[in-house]
Amino acid sequence: MTGLDVVWILLGLLVGFALGVLAFRGRRKQEAIARTLVPHRTREVLSAMQSGAVIVRRDRRAAFANTGAAALGIARLDGKLQTEVADLAEEAWAREEAVEREVVVRRGVLGSVSHVHVRVTPLGDELAFAVANDNTELRAAEQSRREFATNVSHELKTPVGALSLLAEAIEEGADDPEMVRDFARKIRKESRRLTKLIQEIIEISRLQGDDTVRDHQPVELESVTQEALEGARLNAEQRDITLAHAVNAAPVVMGDRDLLVMAVRNLVDNAVAYSEEGAKVTVTVGETEGIASVSVIDRGMGIDKADQERIFERFYRTDPARSRSTGGTGLGLSIVKHIALQHAGKVELWSQPGVGSTFTLQFQAEHGTNEEGTDA
Ligand code: ADP
Repeated sequence: MTGLDVVWILLGLLVGFALGVLAFRGRRKQEAIARTLVPHRTREVLSAMQSGAVIVRRDRRAAFANTGAAALGIARLDGKLQTEVADLAEEAWAREEAVEREVVVRRGVLGSVSHVHVRVTPLGDELAFAVANDNTELRAAEQSRREFATNVSHELKTPVGALSLLAEAIEEGADDPEMVRDFARKIRKESRRLTKLIQEIIEISRLQGDDTVRDHQPVELESVTQEALEGARLNAEQRDITLAHAVNAAPVVMGDRDLLVMAVRNLVDNAVAYSEEGAKVTVTVGETEGIASVSVIDRGMGIDKADQERIFERFYRTDPARSRSTGGTGLGLSIVKHIALQHAGKVELWSQPGVGSTFTLQFQAEHGTNEEGTDA
């Protein structure tokens, strides 16, 4: 190494050191500015806030951002601000008043989208205060409500339209008593379907709403399945379907008895509706390791894998024509799912096309007996 090389190396080290010192001093300066701009107590208060809180500087950076703001993706703890929030702050300064808007933030490696409501208030000429809240769930709920309203009006139109056509037909065929009787029968069938649809729409709206905190009482599951089977018997007999009841335990769960009966009844009605005439439907009651379960087993048409994920959605039917012909509304399984959720339980499905389906409801057992018949 020549003497010149040594000089160059020393010079390089010196420059590097000088730059490092400058950067360090710059950061210390920024921190010092932040400390002066946002006093310790204020930062403590902002840190305690659940909402995202950012003090925005004129240079479009954050003098302070709490962890809520970082979690929402509108500001980084190093002071970098989301562009739209910085724009909003400039608008607030220009208009000399608070401005608010919903900004769409993409976060994480998956780029998941969230809708964040941001309100920026100018604090004099140099600073502004931004408060941010996540509106994503609210948006999703609104979207779901809108879809529900659209579906409901569509579903109601079908039977109402049919009733109107049948009434017209009666008018036209008034002198043919046989025809009138036939149309009258059809009107009765359509109005029964309409009544069922309206009842189920009311039920699903209540189950999804906040007013469903009902009095939960100890309920014996066996009495629930018994009542559901009795209710479904007439339908089953008409299709020559045998209903079997296999009780392997006597679990008690905390719940709303009427809702539990409705859930099992919906499952049994489906098992009957989607089985061939003369088939058998079995309802079992069991308990394993403190989990009470009711299974409804059929050897019917079964459900395709692709449909299995969707059949618990409101108004989803694999075969709309068949569902309508059996008096289905497309709401039965959605009601079952919500009743399970209301009881901190769940509903699971096993199914294979051409083999059959088994729907299983599971709940926390309160007390009762296990399979061996000893006290749990
Ligand atoms: P529906 O009133 O149409 O029966 P549900 O919400 O109860 O509505 O069920 C949704 C769809 O799931 C049905 O239309 C049907 O396609 C399918 N399904 C439900 N239960 C069964 C079953 N046991 N076997 C086969 N398909 C079923």
